[in-house]
Amino acid sequence: MTAQLIDGNALSTQVRAEVAQRAAALTARGHRPGLAVILVGDNPASAVYVRNKVKACADAGFHSVLEKYDADLSEAALLERIEALNNDPAIHGILVQLPLPAHIDDHKVIETISPAKDVDGFHVASAGALMVGEVGFKACTPYGCMKMLESIGLKDLRGQHAVVIGRSNIVGKPMAMMLLRANATVTVCHSGTADLGAITRQADVVVAAVGKRNVLTADMVKPGAVVIDVGMNRNDEGKLCGDVDFAGVREVAGWITPVPGGVGPMTITMLLVNTLEAAERAAA
Ligand code: NAP
Repeated sequence: MTAQLIDGNALSTQVRAEVAQRAAALTARGHRPGLAVILVGDNPASAVYVRNKVKACADAGFHSVLEKYDADLSEAALLERIEALNNDPAIHGILVQLPLPAHIDDHKVIETISPAKDVDGFHVASAGALMVGEVGFKACTPYGCMKMLESIGLKDLRGQHAVVIGRSNIVGKPMAMMLLRANATVTVCHSGTADLGAITRQADVVVAAVGKRNVLTADMVKPGAVVIDVGMNRNDEGKLCGDVDFAGVREVAGWITPVPGGVGPMTITMLLVNTLEAAERAAA
């Protein structure tokens, strides 16, 4: 059996077209969606991510602002800038690209963003809203994974066992919470899990969000399972690869996401969705 691909690029194109349409309607009513992206320092990977996010905004017809600061920007100056954006009516979403330089406290920065503009979904208020089932912003990467599941008819996961590998605040934990809200029976694994394969072999859906190559191999997957690969790593040739042994697992799984072209494009797409929703809420 060779798994079918869940194509993140194709799904992104479709969702972004819908976003652009809704954005145009909102703009026509005088409420153009606006995203501010802040980059501190000169991390080359961050610069690429930020550029892609700003371009995606422009393509969807959003107003977008990219603010770049030197690595020695003080924490106080960054917080002051965020406060100004919190009060700027043309900006509906604020994204501070992580990681920040070591002298700046990530947590303090995220908590300074108004929850109404927290389009990354990292604020404690957003995490809390997800936990209790209230309206907030969902973290973009797990939100994109849920969209991918929905695209193959898995919107309701009643009766399915979903296993999440990884428990970070930005991927693993919100992923588990979203799967739970979709009625899956959820198991969360991490570095302290004994016999990971024994657990993943029971899964109908596996989400790998670790940051290590080959964390999930063919012998760890139930035939026909859905495998979502969030990981972003480099292989020996320096090429982008995920956490999943793609070549092996695709022979066992029913569905699989590739890297690149899987979860990555969906993350940016869901940032656009969140920013649009923020603008729609502000205009309501
Ligand atoms: P993270 O904060 O480093 O968390 C990694 C998680 O994996 C931790 O919970 C850790 O457990 C767990 N882990 C480590 N080794 C393990 C093992 N051998 N078996 C089982 N679990 C293990 O990383 P993250 O921010 O969640 O990101 C995870 C990966 O996704 C990275 O490759 C990142 O680049 C990628 N990512 C991709 C996107 C995208 O758009 N495609 C977005 C975000 C992240 P402990 O908690 O016990 O340490």
